Amino acid sequence: MRLVLVGAPGAGKGTMANLISKKFGIPHLSTGDILRNAVSKGAPLGKEAKGYMNRGELVPDPLMVEIVRGEITDSRGASGFVLDGFPRNLRQAEAFEKILIDEGISLDAVIHLRVSREVAVKRLAGRRICSDCGAIYHLTNNPPRKLGVCDKCGGRLYQREDDQEATVKNRFKVYEREARGLIDFYRQKGVLKSFRADEEAKVVFQEIERFLKSLS
Ligand code: AMP
Repeated sequence: MRLVLVGAPGAGKGTMANLISKKFGIPHLSTGDILRNAVSKGAPLGKEAKGYMNRGELVPDPLMVEIVRGEITDSRGASGFVLDGFPRNLRQAEAFEKILIDEGISLDAVIHLRVSREVAVKRLAGRRICSDCGAIYHLTNNPPRKLGVCDKCGGRLYQREDDQEATVKNRFKVYEREARGLIDFYRQKGVLKSFRADEEAKVVFQEIERFLKSLS
């Protein structure tokens, strides 16, 4: 199964991708995770991306397209992928089409998570990430058993720099500017499926799971 997740910051793309990945046994590819990893290692990619990320801007398209091309090539032997965070705009979507054609594959669905601004802001403000395994927590919706410590691996939990209020505002602005073209593109292709994503993760996932089971 080959899936893409789209939606505003705080819509739950990472959380849903993770659940889909586990339930259906397909790799989760997150461009945000790839970039954060590169930043934390001080890798050249991280040095290039860091400024854009901290301002809530998009990292330049050519760089992102090459990263994704590599990831898709590497996932050839796998049972598909669930891609979270890419494409982010129409240019990336068009470049992605070429990658898919080169690989001789196509998308099964593009899952569009629709969230209200109010819920998204609350999710982002309370979000905490494990610095070791990347697990996602929320201070009130999904708190760790011990404050600041990952339940799964004992890693330290941190708040993403771009989840600070000023950056969040810019990320919404960028999403609103870029997303319409992207969503229209996939709607016209007939692969877009929208879900209301304001509810808690378990409830949203149930709907997605039902839909994905209906595909196979
Ligand atoms: P995310 O974890 O998906 O919220 O991504 C965090 C940040 O990484 C974004 O705000 C961008 O700065 C950058 N980023 C992730 N994916 C992309 C992409 N497809 N295109 C451009 N920038 C991206």
